[in-house]
Amino acid sequence: MSDCLFCRIVSREIPSDIVYEDELVIAFNDINPQAPVHMLVIPKKHIPTIADLEDADRDLFGHIHMVIKDLARQEGIDEKGYRVVVNCRESAGQSVFHVHFHLLGGRSLGWPPG
Ligand code: 5GP
Ligand code: ZN
Repeated sequence: MSDCLFCRIVSREIPSDIVYEDELVIAFNDINPQAPVHMLVIPKKHIPTIADLEDADRDLFGHIHMVIKDLARQEGIDEKGYRVVVNCRESAGQSVFHVHFHLLGGRSLGWPPG
Protein backbone atom coordinates (compact mmCIF):
# COMPACT_ATOMS: atom_id res chain seq x y z
CA MET A 1 0.00 0.00 0.00
CA SER A 2 2.10 2.89 -1.27
CA ASP A 3 -0.22 5.50 0.27
CA CYS A 4 -0.05 3.97 3.76
CA LEU A 5 2.31 5.72 6.17
CA PHE A 6 3.28 2.57 8.06
CA CYS A 7 3.77 0.51 4.88
CA ARG A 8 6.17 3.27 3.82
CA ILE A 9 7.99 2.91 7.14
CA VAL A 10 8.22 -0.86 6.55
CA SER A 11 9.71 -0.26 3.08
CA ARG A 12 12.08 2.44 4.45
CA GLU A 13 10.57 5.11 2.19
CA ILE A 14 9.96 7.04 5.40
CA PRO A 15 12.68 6.92 8.05
CA SER A 16 11.91 5.75 11.57
CA ASP A 17 13.75 4.72 14.69
CA ILE A 18 13.49 0.96 14.27
CA VAL A 19 13.92 -1.06 17.45
CA TYR A 20 13.16 -4.56 16.16
CA GLU A 21 12.48 -6.31 12.89
CA ASP A 22 11.86 -9.84 11.67
CA GLU A 23 10.17 -11.32 8.61
CA LEU A 24 6.66 -10.59 9.91
CA VAL A 25 6.92 -7.62 12.23
CA ILE A 26 8.61 -4.27 12.73
CA ALA A 27 8.78 -2.13 15.89
CA PHE A 28 9.79 1.53 15.98
CA ASN A 29 9.63 4.42 18.41
CA ASP A 30 6.54 6.61 18.25
CA ILE A 31 7.26 10.06 16.80
CA ASN A 32 5.17 11.69 19.56
CA PRO A 33 5.88 9.58 22.66
CA GLN A 34 3.33 9.57 25.47
CA ALA A 35 5.59 7.78 27.96
CA PRO A 36 9.34 7.19 28.42
CA VAL A 37 8.88 3.99 26.41
CA HIS A 38 6.40 4.35 23.56
CA MET A 39 6.91 2.17 20.56
CA LEU A 40 4.64 0.85 17.85
CA VAL A 41 4.70 -2.82 16.92
CA ILE A 42 3.15 -3.51 13.53
CA PRO A 43 2.69 -6.42 11.14
CA LYS A 44 4.52 -5.86 7.86
CA LYS A 45 1.33 -7.01 6.16
CA HIS A 46 -1.10 -4.16 5.54
CA ILE A 47 -4.20 -4.70 7.67
CA PRO A 48 -6.21 -1.51 8.25
CA THR A 49 -7.72 -2.27 11.68
CA ILE A 50 -8.02 -5.15 14.14
CA ALA A 51 -11.64 -5.40 12.97
CA ASP A 52 -10.23 -6.57 9.63
CA LEU A 53 -8.39 -9.59 11.04
CA GLU A 54 -8.91 -12.90 9.29
CA ASP A 55 -8.47 -16.48 10.46
CA ALA A 56 -5.18 -16.65 8.56
CA ASP A 57 -3.79 -13.88 10.80
CA ARG A 58 -3.97 -15.93 14.03
CA ASP A 59 -0.32 -16.97 14.10
CA LEU A 60 0.84 -13.50 13.07
CA PHE A 61 -0.99 -11.88 15.96
CA GLY A 62 0.22 -14.48 18.42
CA HIS A 63 3.74 -13.73 17.21
CA ILE A 64 3.22 -9.97 17.68
CA HIS A 65 2.37 -10.57 21.34
CA MET A 66 5.53 -12.60 21.85
CA VAL A 67 7.56 -9.78 20.26
CA ILE A 68 5.86 -7.24 22.56
CA LYS A 69 6.69 -9.38 25.59
CA ASP A 70 10.36 -9.57 24.56
CA LEU A 71 10.55 -5.82 23.81
CA ALA A 72 9.07 -4.97 27.21
CA ARG A 73 11.77 -7.05 28.87
CA GLN A 74 14.47 -5.51 26.65
CA GLU A 75 13.28 -2.01 27.61
CA GLY A 76 13.29 -2.92 31.31
CA ILE A 77 9.58 -2.22 31.84
CA ASP A 78 8.34 -5.79 32.23
CA GLU A 79 8.65 -6.06 36.01
CA LYS A 80 6.97 -2.76 36.91
CA GLY A 81 4.44 -3.14 34.14
CA TYR A 82 3.37 -1.62 30.89
CA ARG A 83 0.36 -1.11 28.67
CA VAL A 84 -0.44 -2.43 25.20
CA VAL A 85 -3.06 -0.45 23.30
CA VAL A 86 -4.72 -0.91 19.94
CA ASN A 87 -7.04 1.85 18.81
CA CYS A 88 -9.70 0.62 16.40
CA ARG A 89 -11.48 3.05 14.13
CA GLU A 90 -13.02 6.43 14.76
CA SER A 91 -14.33 6.32 18.33
CA ALA A 92 -11.01 5.01 19.64
CA GLY A 93 -9.10 7.75 17.82
CA GLN A 94 -7.22 5.57 15.36
CA SER A 95 -5.30 7.91 13.09
CA VAL A 96 -3.14 5.53 11.02
CA PHE A 97 -5.07 2.78 9.30
CA HIS A 98 -2.43 0.06 9.45
CA VAL A 99 -2.78 -2.08 12.58
CA HIS A 100 -0.34 -1.04 15.31
CA PHE A 101 0.14 -2.01 18.93
CA HIS A 102 1.26 0.84 21.19
CA LEU A 103 3.71 -0.42 23.85
CA LEU A 104 3.79 2.15 26.65
CA GLY A 105 5.77 2.08 29.86
CA GLY A 106 8.30 3.74 32.10
CA ARG A 107 5.77 5.71 34.14
CA SER A 108 2.49 5.12 35.96
CA LEU A 109 -0.36 5.01 33.48
CA GLY A 110 -3.79 6.24 34.49
CA TRP A 111 -7.00 4.28 34.14
CA PRO A 112 -9.61 4.67 32.77
CA PRO A 113 -8.11 6.05 29.56
CA GLY A 114 -9.56 9.23 28.07
P1 5GP B 1 -3.23 5.85 16.55
O1 5GP B 1 -3.75 7.20 16.94
O2 5GP B 1 -3.61 5.51 15.12
O3 5GP B 1 -3.58 4.76 17.51
O4 5GP B 1 -1.66 5.96 16.63
C1 5GP B 1 -0.86 6.44 15.60
C2 5GP B 1 0.49 6.72 16.21
O5 5GP B 1 1.43 6.86 15.16
C3 5GP B 1 0.55 8.00 17.04
O6 5GP B 1 0.97 7.69 18.37
C4 5GP B 1 1.54 8.87 16.29
O7 5GP B 1 2.35 9.64 17.15
C5 5GP B 1 2.36 7.85 15.52
N1 5GP B 1 2.91 8.35 14.27
C6 5GP B 1 2.24 9.06 13.32
N2 5GP B 1 3.06 9.33 12.29
C7 5GP B 1 4.27 8.78 12.60
C8 5GP B 1 5.52 8.72 11.92
O8 5GP B 1 5.70 9.23 10.80
N3 5GP B 1 6.54 8.07 12.54
C9 5GP B 1 6.37 7.50 13.77
N4 5GP B 1 7.45 6.89 14.29
N5 5GP B 1 5.21 7.51 14.44
C10 5GP B 1 4.16 8.15 13.85
ZN1 ZN C 1 -0.06 -0.22 5.55
